[in-house]
Amino acid sequence: MSKILIIEDEEAIADLEKDYLELSDFKVDIAGDGIDGEKKALENDYDLIVLDLMLPGKDGFEVCKSIREKKNVPILMVSAKKDDIDKIRGLGLGADDYMTKPFSPSELVARVKAHLARYERLTNSQAKPRNTVIEIRGLKIDKTARRVWVDGEEKQFTTKEFDLLTFLAENPNHVYTKDELFREIWDMDSIGDIATVTVHIKKIREKIEFDSANPQYIETIWGVGYRFKM
Ligand code: CA
Repeated sequence: MSKILIIEDEEAIADLEKDYLELSDFKVDIAGDGIDGEKKALENDYDLIVLDLMLPGKDGFEVCKSIREKKNVPILMVSAKKDDIDKIRGLGLGADDYMTKPFSPSELVARVKAHLARYERLTNSQAKPRNTVIEIRGLKIDKTARRVWVDGEEKQFTTKEFDLLTFLAENPNHVYTKDELFREIWDMDSIGDIATVTVHIKKIREKIEFDSANPQYIETIWGVGYRFKM
């Protein structure tokens, strides 16, 4: 049974969240202020922490930072203000997700479940070598978590888009033909042809390039293929 810690000073909200999580078979503890929350988070092994931003004692920023220094537990931060969410993102405190109040308890449960599933996949695959983050200028690729950020903003990629982008970014300044890329990323017997590569490059550019017509990352080498500019 997964254990969740809710750090929330508004008792009614904390109780509601607890009820819904318990209905989904989670075990739930509540801490009513930042100091107690931090203590509980560090002394126990929770599977996920729901952390409110505005808290007496110690605010969510500090608590998040402090937990993140010692624990790898997923942290879901909640705040009543959209501006605060942007601030949390900007600070890079290591929270895994953000929710703006008010949210429905069932949305909270859905997010919690999604994070636990993702975290489990992640920890199961951690026999692989570490240092799987590629950073090139404003582009950050986390290979283990299969997540991509552009200037701090997370972008969503399909499996093949992610594989293609990662392959190019790991082999910068090398010109690949569409044929080579197709063979590298797609299975021998997958349906499609090298036009698939062009379509995927276009999609990737729309997500990572400031101006797709004037790409800063993936260059087109006319008549040959593509090159990731280092
Ligand atoms: Ca609060």
